[in-house]
Amino acid sequence: MAAKKASVAWDYVVPVKMPKDLKGIEPGKLPDSLLRSIKTGGKLHWRAADAWNAMVAKAAADGLELKPTSSGDLYRSYESQLAGFKQRYVLEPVAGTSTKTFEGKTWYLKKGMAMLATPGKSMHNLGIAVDVHSAGEPKRLNWLIANVKDFGFSWEVVPSEPWHLRLVTGDSPTPAVEAFTSGQPAPAAAPAPAVEVAAEEKPAAAKPEAKPEVKKVLSLGDKGPRVKLLQEKLAAQGVYAGAPNGEYDDRCARAVLAFKTKNNLKKDGVAGQQVQELLGMM
Ligand SMILES: [Zn+2]
Repeated sequence: MAAKKASVAWDYVVPVKMPKDLKGIEPGKLPDSLLRSIKTGGKLHWRAADAWNAMVAKAAADGLELKPTSSGDLYRSYESQLAGFKQRYVLEPVAGTSTKTFEGKTWYLKKGMAMLATPGKSMHNLGIAVDVHSAGEPKRLNWLIANVKDFGFSWEVVPSEPWHLRLVTGDSPTPAVEAFTSGQPAPAAAPAPAVEVAAEEKPAAAKPEAKPEVKKVLSLGDKGPRVKLLQEKLAAQGVYAGAPNGEYDDRCARAVLAFKTKNNLKKDGVAGQQVQELLGMM
C-alpha cells in the first residue's frame, strides 16, 4: 500500500506485516476466535489488541488517556464499513468532491464528510487499525510520536489522519508488548508463534530504537507493565489473588513474600532478579 509522504514530525509510515492467521480471511469477516474485546468497547484482532492494551497502559502510566474515537473505530465488520460508506458516499454526482469505485460504480463523497475506505479495503476490516481519540492534541500527538513504534504501530496516511494507527509487526510483537502480555495465552485459533525467525524478519524501521529497560529489582511503589507481568506470574503460582493492576502495592508485596517463603528465599516483599527468573520473567 503506497503511503503518502509528508514532512510532519509524525511521518512514521512503515509497511504492514499481517498476522499469519489473517491469511485467507475475508476483510470484515473475522471469526470471533481471532478478535479480542477492548475494555472501552469494540474489538481488535488479538495481536493488535495486545499491542493496543500495552500502549494504553504505558500512556496511563505516563498520565495520558488513550482511547479509541469510538468502539466502531477498531475492528469493523464488512456490514458496518458498508453502512459507514453509504452514509458518506452517494451515487448521484457531487461536484468538486472525491470519488471511490465500489461494486463497479463511482461513488461521490458528500460535502463536509471525511473520506472512508470502501468496504473490505480498510485496515479496520482486518482488526489491526485503531482511530485514536483527540490524536491531534499536541500533548497526545507528541506522546504518540515518542511511543507508537515501541508497540508496533505506525500511521497510514499522513498528515491527514493523525488518529489512524495500524499494527505493522504481524506475529512479532515488540519487546514492550511481549513484556505486557507475557503469560497471556494466544487464542486457540492462532498459529504457534515462530518467535526467533519472525524477529529477524522484522523490518528495520519497525524495530524500537532501544529495548525498554528491564528493571532488575521491583519493589513497593513501582508500577507499570513489568509489575503487571509480575502479578500475573504470581497469580499463576497461586500466591496473588485479584486482578493484576500493575501497581506494586501491599498486596503485591505480600504475594512476593509468600512466593519467596515457598521457595526458601529471603523473606521479604522485594522481587529481585532471582524471583523474576524463577517466575520466568527474564
Ligand atoms: Zn481509521
